[in-house]
Amino acid sequence: MTDYKSLLRELPAVDRLLRETPLEDKMRHLPRRLVLEAAQETIASYRRRISDYSSLDNSPESPVQIDLSPSALAEEAALLAEKRAGSNFRSLINATGIIIHTNLGRVPLAPSAIEAVTAAARDYNNLEFSLDTGERGSRQEHLEKLLCDLSGAEAAAVVNNNAAAVFLALNTIAAGREVVVSRGQLVEIGGSFRIPEIMAASGARLVEVGTTNKTYLRDYEAVVNENTAAFLKVHTSNYHMIGFTAAVKTKDLVSLAARCHLPLIEDLGSGVFRDLTAYNLPPEPRIQDSIAAGADLVTFSGDKMLGGPQAGIIVGRSDLVAMIRKNQLARTLRIDKFTVAALEATLRLYLDWERAEQEIPVWTMIAAPPAEMRRRAEGLAEQLSGLLAGGDLEVIEGFSRVGGGALPTAELPTFLLALRPPEGKSPTDLVAKLRQGSPPVVLRLQQDRLLFDPRTIKEEEEEALVGAIDRACR
Ligand SMILES: *Cc1c(COP(=O)(O)O)cnc(C)c1O
Repeated sequence: MTDYKSLLRELPAVDRLLRETPLEDKMRHLPRRLVLEAAQETIASYRRRISDYSSLDNSPESPVQIDLSPSALAEEAALLAEKRAGSNFRSLINATGIIIHTNLGRVPLAPSAIEAVTAAARDYNNLEFSLDTGERGSRQEHLEKLLCDLSGAEAAAVVNNNAAAVFLALNTIAAGREVVVSRGQLVEIGGSFRIPEIMAASGARLVEVGTTNKTYLRDYEAVVNENTAAFLKVHTSNYHMIGFTAAVKTKDLVSLAARCHLPLIEDLGSGVFRDLTAYNLPPEPRIQDSIAAGADLVTFSGDKMLGGPQAGIIVGRSDLVAMIRKNQLARTLRIDKFTVAALEATLRLYLDWERAEQEIPVWTMIAAPPAEMRRRAEGLAEQLSGLLAGGDLEVIEGFSRVGGGALPTAELPTFLLALRPPEGKSPTDLVAKLRQGSPPVVLRLQQDRLLFDPRTIKEEEEEALVGAIDRACR
């Protein structure tokens, strides 16, 4: 029988550990409290291990084999301290091929937007100061003209995200009154944005019309009464109905809304300025088309297919936008200077579509032809084939996705680097190792193969990716 009590006594004390070279080193350039914590946690974890063994009679690994020397523990504590000292929020390589990846920060910004954010962080600026008059200005002014030019709307306002845009529009126009929505459009997006809940929070009363698959204009018409405040049309961004369906076109709802003297609010979700069929993608409603059709307010996200910073954009009738801006809640949902900077720079690129496609990463990734994906996947395979001792590399055909709850059925043909792990290594372990590595790599696992999609990997990340795969496979 092992004498666990004596093993516990053998554990070095914290100050003994701190005198070991690796920790003395860390003390010199990391915050003292981090190093101290790491030493305490390391000792505590060994104490737990020993106690766990003592409660297991036939443990496969005898605790006597654990190295309890101060140098071994100090080594481990030093690694822990180093890890804790680094940022928790980090850059990573997205090899999933999902372009708008909400969990991974949605989309990278265009270079000019990155520059604008850096300048906003570094310098004072005219966020709310008019350089013409020397008087107080509005942060919205930096964005409104561009948004109106691009969408054809009379006015625009920008808030923290699209959920906030929908909430604020409903709260301003319909609190305490009724809003008519088709049953087929009561969507949930991303697990936390649900139309019925947002509507309830805004104080508007939801009036559902039609059925799950079919809603007609007469369904909307039948429920209008003196308490009706607006019609709401929601783009069913993240699901697609097939079979027998009927939805009312924006243009028809516009005529009904006009006849009833009620505004039509349209939540486009992703929102695009460009016709997606040019990229062999299913059509998405364009912002300028909804405005041209006569929607009174249109809302969309800044960081989905627009490819900018997180924001919720409201464009439409100037009297309604003015009311929205005056709402006290607008202050709680307002955007910061970084969003103003990044969004203005991103919108400016849309003034020239060619530049938008070349410089806004979401569009560069969507537009990348399969032949280029093949060339890059083959390049990665070639670099790795010289390094990997075992494992099986192949370039295969596959699909990338737009993601972000947009275009749920759309697939972009691509080429993938497929890696079958070396003998004796489990694919799930390898995925975890890559995720916990430096830089972390996030990818898709299909059966026993790890898939890397060049579409969402920047060319300048390739070297780091090859290194990470090589280290993980050892
Ligand atoms: C994504 C989405 C939202 C929420 O937008 P966020 O900018 O993520 O807050 C709202 N409505 C629709 C239809 C969406 O697709």
